Amino acid sequence: MERIVNEQEVLRLRELVSEAEHIVVTCHTNPDGDAIGSMTAVIQVMERLGRKAVGIAPDRWPDNLQWLPGMDKLLNYSKQKEEADALLKEADLVFMMDHGSLSRMKDLGDAVGQSPARKVMIDHHLDPDHECCDLVVSEPSLCAACEVLYRLMVDMGWAEGLTFDEATSIYTGMMTDTGGFTFASNRPEVFLIVSRLLETGIDKDRIYRNVFYTASPDRYRLMGYLLYVKMELIRDLNASIMSLTNEERRQFKIRNGETDGYVNLPLQIERMRLSIFLREDTERKGVIRVSLRSVDDFPCNKMSEEFFNGGGHKNASGGTIYGTMDEAIELVHTAIHKYAPLLKG
Ligand code: 5GP
Ligand code: MN
Repeated sequence: MERIVNEQEVLRLRELVSEAEHIVVTCHTNPDGDAIGSMTAVIQVMERLGRKAVGIAPDRWPDNLQWLPGMDKLLNYSKQKEEADALLKEADLVFMMDHGSLSRMKDLGDAVGQSPARKVMIDHHLDPDHECCDLVVSEPSLCAACEVLYRLMVDMGWAEGLTFDEATSIYTGMMTDTGGFTFASNRPEVFLIVSRLLETGIDKDRIYRNVFYTASPDRYRLMGYLLYVKMELIRDLNASIMSLTNEERRQFKIRNGETDGYVNLPLQIERMRLSIFLREDTERKGVIRVSLRSVDDFPCNKMSEEFFNGGGHKNASGGTIYGTMDEAIELVHTAIHKYAPLLKG
């Protein structure tokens, strides 16, 4: 495997870690398996190296990650602000996992920005903010922050002695960010790493079930409702639109993270190239969050930049529409028709 950091960066990180008495690890808002897995993994690696480390997530994480090893080391900033601020105050090193800027952490980002601690970013999103960190290890071509972390561990010499618990966390992040290795995971290195993780004895089938087969009945009932009632297929343009209002969320007793993955469903229909999922923001009135997923070469990040104040990756992007749900759906129609030549393909 190619190195992802040079000799100078290795020395710099070694120095930062060896000088650190109190390490804090952070991740982005609405944390997913990669955000939480990369946090718990790096906390455990730091502990193995004899350091003290704790994690602070900006807000609540999904229940289906609660079984991960090391979760007792995580705080939820939106609920445990005082305790977290005290930890940040004494922190001398912060690892920012799975996000490329302080703004992806909302309030926690302000607190981290004000902290004099050294900062190391370990990420795979596009356009990382180099200004906010002392060391940036960001590789958008890799499938997960957990893959970036593992590759960094190899370069640092930390992968020798990889533990079962570290491997469990890293596998979880790589698995969730690739939809169970169904996208963004075609490089041989991905499976080389998986193979090394398996050598620690982890049970990948159990990890899959722990994460993906633990939905609430309400999540499946809402999924059925969305597919049966709400999914609009634009067959001639190979595109799909689904939407979710807060009223529907209440009706199905659905929490924020429980709608993850719905956007991918329409892509399982033959010939579909683009799926757009709209949902009313749970906190801000008149704000609609947009999720886009595409296959092959369709650049949904370009569409999101042009129409939805957003961006992201070629096949997975997001954005925001300001207005009512009806206005948002109309705007999505406009966008899809503008991109008709690329969608017909
Ligand atoms: P999701 O649909 O899971 O919310 O977002 C998918 C991906 O799109 C994210 O991983 C992120 O890279 C990107 N993304 C989501 N929302 C935004 C946004 O508002 N602005 C930009 N630039 N990218 C976004
Ligand atoms: Mn990620």
